Amino acid sequence: MSQACTMNKCTRTLRGLCDCCQQNLCLQHLNEHNIELISQLNPLTDEINILGDRLETLNIQKIIAIEREKLEQWRQDCYKKIDLFFEQKCQELDQFVNERIDQQRQELKRIQLKISELINAQETTRHDIDSLTSTIRQLERRFKNIEEKCVTIHTRPLLIDGTLVSLEKTIQLELDLSTLSSVYRTIHYLKGSFISLTCNDRYLLIHQHPNLCLLDRELNIVKQTLWSYSEIWDMCWSSELDRFIVLGKNNIYLINENTMSIDNVHKIERRTWASCTCSDTVLFASTNERASSIMEFALFPTIKLRREWKYPVTCTKDEFISDIVYNNGNLALMI
Ligand SMILES: [Zn+2]
Ligand SMILES: [Zn+2]
Repeated sequence: MSQACTMNKCTRTLRGLCDCCQQNLCLQHLNEHNIELISQLNPLTDEINILGDRLETLNIQKIIAIEREKLEQWRQDCYKKIDLFFEQKCQELDQFVNERIDQQRQELKRIQLKISELINAQETTRHDIDSLTSTIRQLERRFKNIEEKCVTIHTRPLLIDGTLVSLEKTIQLELDLSTLSSVYRTIHYLKGSFISLTCNDRYLLIHQHPNLCLLDRELNIVKQTLWSYSEIWDMCWSSELDRFIVLGKNNIYLINENTMSIDNVHKIERRTWASCTCSDTVLFASTNERASSIMEFALFPTIKLRREWKYPVTCTKDEFISDIVYNNGNLALMI
């Protein structure tokens, strides 16, 4: 006997699985669901058209105006600075030329006085005459000099450094949590596996009991190696070391994604680890205890403990740090 449509009270023979509701339906109900699905396209068209209109009528001038005003203010300030500088140099020039002429005026007066003294006394020597003549010639030359060129202005073009004005572009958030896709792939959790996971831009690193596994984007196991060490508390990726970092109970391990080799690079005494994260140059690892500490390790040239951040900097005496994440110069702590 053929099976019936799964819709309530429908007795017609089922003809196929409906894509929209994942139910087995008869032809009529399949058609109805199909029409219903197609009808949902219309409101979507309306929405995208509204967004299109909004983009077209966007007031670009208004978006530009506020920042443009800042640029304009900067221009005015620059002009003011140039004007002020120009005025200073004009004053220097005036002062210099006037002083120079004043000097000649003094010299001229001195000689006039000398000549009139000699005339009044009705007495002079050949030496006086020669000396005065020479001084007058000298004055003549100086006057000519002043008339022709007593000062020269040298200028260099104003160099405008492109970094004087820079545009900081607002980054559009790529990840919108409201539009996360539905489940892409699922991988079964094997009993006894540790729950930490991390990734680089090629692989996802997880523990699938009893192995440490690298998975590709399709969640296929690409490489694996037996994990025969203590429990895993956390993992992170260091692009600088080009290694995965695995935090064991007391130890820090480096995993080479090419060879899947495991190197034990640090052992902590009498305490245990909780979580880890990496910057370009530093590995941070928190301790699993009340009043948790954060240990800061240099990554180069070898992994080496640099300092311990203790409570009350990290948390209070009664608190635990359960996870830490480094991003963009900040360390976020979940306490
Ligand atoms: Zn359906
Ligand atoms: Zn039906």
